[in-house]
Amino acid sequence: MKRFAHLNARTLDEAVLYLRRYGGRAKIIAGGTDVLGRMKDEIVPTYPEALINIKTIPGLDFIEEREGSLKIGALTKLEDIARHPVIKAKFSALAEAARRTASPHIREMGTIAGNICQDIRCWYYRAPNNRFPCLRKGGGRCYAIEGDNRYHSIFGASVDGGCLAVHPSDIAPALIALDAKIRTSERKIKAEHFFEVGVCKTNVLEEDEIVTEIEISQPPVGSKSAFIKFAARETIDFPVVNCAATIVGSEGTVQAARICLNAVYLKPYRVTSAEQAIIGKTISDNSVEDAGIEAVRQAKPLARNTYMVQIARTLVKRAVLACG
Ligand SMILES: Cc1cc2nc3c(=O)[nH]c(=O)nc-3n(C[C@H](O)[C@H](O)[C@H](O)COP(=O)(O)OP(=O)(O)OC[C@H]3O[C@@H](n4cnc5c(N)ncnc54)[C@H](O)[C@@H]3O)c2cc1C
Ligand code: SF4
Repeated sequence: MKRFAHLNARTLDEAVLYLRRYGGRAKIIAGGTDVLGRMKDEIVPTYPEALINIKTIPGLDFIEEREGSLKIGALTKLEDIARHPVIKAKFSALAEAARRTASPHIREMGTIAGNICQDIRCWYYRAPNNRFPCLRKGGGRCYAIEGDNRYHSIFGASVDGGCLAVHPSDIAPALIALDAKIRTSERKIKAEHFFEVGVCKTNVLEEDEIVTEIEISQPPVGSKSAFIKFAARETIDFPVVNCAATIVGSEGTVQAARICLNAVYLKPYRVTSAEQAIIGKTISDNSVEDAGIEAVRQAKPLARNTYMVQIARTLVKRAVLACG
């Protein structure tokens, strides 16, 4: 590991000031489960000169129901979210997504903001010591195109640059299905607009912007949410594909739906065509079949990941059925 400064911020303003002072050469550290791994393996060509510790800022670790919404502080641990009785009862997609994330140790360290800001896991990108200087590191090629792409995008490359990596978060699709908002030191962003397709970016945060809170409105009467994950192993494994859904029903008919896949593209992939396939219908074998077909209609799998298309289709069906 190379040398770097470690600064304990006492307030949010101080953390923002530190980020500005380093002008893009500093990183926030929360639980450290992602950022420290990246630094130890030296996978990024521009090594951070400083880590700004935000765990020393009081008041960023909370779960509260306030003003008609659930509010979750940026530093809230994934394990606390998984176990919280209100989240389990009313926002089950989020509780289940947190429960299925990583291992107990990582859930006790990892925070909700760190999870949605984590970097991609493409094995060429993560190979230690910058072994593969790919597009995402400013190099000239994507090694996944002709290499082992079994865990890469099934919906094509990112628009600018051609990166075929996928977004690895279990929490992100749950937040999108629940129509959450992400509050930062600057603004409030809808969860579905937070994630970004870019060569070197996975979210829309500016260099000096910090996530402070997640906000989710109380679920409407008659709504239910669910999260389903497929991973190679039951514990400590990133998703091969995951899916979260929220369905609002009345007298047996679907009034509104939000369905989001993840680990299939560089950002969480909301499948509005699958939502349209069930709105106005009852949840039945036929309607969920249609939703599954619509969800993957635009899929363009690579040489080694055609199997993910079938998994995505099945998870959409199961997530909708779980909300029935
Ligand atoms: C072995 C292993 C298995 C895993 N399995 C899964 C899995 O199955 N599913 C899954 O979803 N994830 C998985 N993860 C990822 C894990 O959930 C994340 O590493 C963790 O949630 C990140 O939280 P953290 O607080 O440790 O973030 P950190 O490592 O501290 O930070 C991560 C990134 O977010 C930025 N950041 C952190 N907080 C903020 C903030 N408030 N505002 C702005 N930027 C911020 C940091 O600068 C950094 O770039 C796994 C990780 C490991 C190591
Ligand atoms: S998928 Fe993206 S991160 Fe992986 S090798 Fe290609 S450009 Fe690099």
